[in-house]
Amino acid sequence: MRALILSDIHANLAALESVLSATKGRFDVIWCLGDVVGYGPRPNECVEMIRALASVCVMGNHDLAVLGKPGMDVEAFNPYAQQAVLWTRDTLTQENMAYLAELSAVPVRPLSTVDLLLTHASPREPVSEYILTPSIAMENFAAFTEGICLFGHTHKPVIYRWRLHEELYTELFDDFYSDADEFEGTSNTYPVATVDALQPPIGNVVQLTASTQVRLIINPGSVGQPRDNDVRAAYAILDLEAMTWRYERVPYPIELTQNQMRAVRLPKRLIDRLSFGL
Ligand code: ZN
Repeated sequence: MRALILSDIHANLAALESVLSATKGRFDVIWCLGDVVGYGPRPNECVEMIRALASVCVMGNHDLAVLGKPGMDVEAFNPYAQQAVLWTRDTLTQENMAYLAELSAVPVRPLSTVDLLLTHASPREPVSEYILTPSIAMENFAAFTEGICLFGHTHKPVIYRWRLHEELYTELFDDFYSDADEFEGTSNTYPVATVDALQPPIGNVVQLTASTQVRLIINPGSVGQPRDNDVRAAYAILDLEAMTWRYERVPYPIELTQNQMRAVRLPKRLIDRLSFGL
């Protein structure tokens, strides 16, 4: 089974459609990591596509803010994001609002047979924390038990790899007061956990091997508002049999989305950033 991993679509229908046509016939299910709406001009269309196509979708901070429920105050957003949230709230149909309201605000395990978890932001703060450094990732590895966790929210593709090493050390039973060369030494090992951030090239197939020694927290990047200086829509294909991960990017008609944003008077700053992948 192959899963198309989508995150942070942010109501960018042109980007979502481009991803779906680029991946046609190459996946069996869609898993969505949240933020279907917010920022972009086509929230109803994007929610309807995800409702129809995704077998799993978790709650993002923008999805939650649009609902206007306790847990995510719109005041916590910057003024531009806030304006987009309020516009989205006025624009979404009742039915699409109801779909967003049903999304899980806690991490979801999509298949009982696969040792993998989905969350929007992080395992310990599923809707709001930004995992932007290996040290924040390190703290989050303690917050879930599965081998692999997929997340979104930062809009930046990355694989955080946790590894347990056996470090060798030599213990010295050194008598301070005797001759320096008369000490006894004994060797031993102790476990050390490290986390590094990997950025596999687009199109390369990465083998995902989770074990007691290796665990992974992975971000596919953002479909609708990439922030890694690459303006193309980002997504990934996860092959659950081969346990491989493939990052892909696809160009989409950015100007179409920008014109749609202008037409509904979304903030200029949100329109401009799509041209830079910021
Ligand atoms: Zn987002």
